[in-house]
Formats: sequence, structure tokens, C-alpha cells
Amino acid sequence: MSEPQFKCIRQPWANLIVANERAVETSIWGTSHRGTLAIYATPGDALDRDDTSHLPHGAIIAIAQLADSHHKHDTNLCDRHSCNPRDAQPFHWVLTDIRALSTPIRCARPTSGRIPFHLAAALHTPQAGTRA
Ligand SMILES: [Zn+2]
Repeated sequence: MSEPQFKCIRQPWANLIVANERAVETSIWGTSHRGTLAIYATPGDALDRDDTSHLPHGAIIAIAQLADSHHKHDTNLCDRHSCNPRDAQPFHWVLTDIRALSTPIRCARPTSGRIPFHLAAALHTPQAGTRA
């Protein structure tokens, strides 16, 4: 386990993770990080999507556990995690224990993967409890 990190995701994809409809996030890079991952909904949206103005932006909206990260050509792992082989991005991040924050934590887009100390503390308070 390493210290908690962020994953910046555009809406509406970030909210689909929170709704537990998307447990495998795709990325242009892989990571050796395992453990706590804060899901950060970026200020901007995915292109060519429906209106997402009702969804939180610029905030941590969920906490998950990153169980695995692998390349989409690793078919054994993709089979095990039921990845979508048609995903355009080369890496798959497998999320478990996805917990929506009852109140999103608004903050600037993180400049590194690390969670600032004051935010890390906030993630462990009761209001960061689960909705799921
Ligand atoms: Zn996969």
C-alpha cells in the first residue's frame, strides 16, 4: 500500500464510477499505486456528452481502492476483471470499494497524484461516509 492518490476524471465518467456503473477506469498511463484512490471530478467535461451541469465539478466525489492497473493487451487480467476490450485507452485501472462522499470536497485540480494533507484528513471524517 502506498499513500492515497488522486485520479482526475471528467464528468459524466466520474459520476458513473460513483454510481458503481464503471468499476474499470481507463487511462493513458498505468500506475504501480495500489490502495486508496480519490476520484476527482475535473472542472471540464468529456467532449460530446449530454449536459452535466447538474453534476459536481472540481471536487473529490468518491474514494475507492485501486486493486489493479494493467495494459489492455493483458487479456488474462482483462478477462478476470471483465474489462471492455474496445476501450480506447491503453491502461485499465480496476476499482473496488467505491464509496461516494456525502458531500463532495471542492478543491483545485491536484497538480500531482498526492492528496494534500488537509484533504487526506477530511476524507476520514464522518461526513465522508458512504452513500452506497
Ligand atoms: Zn483490462
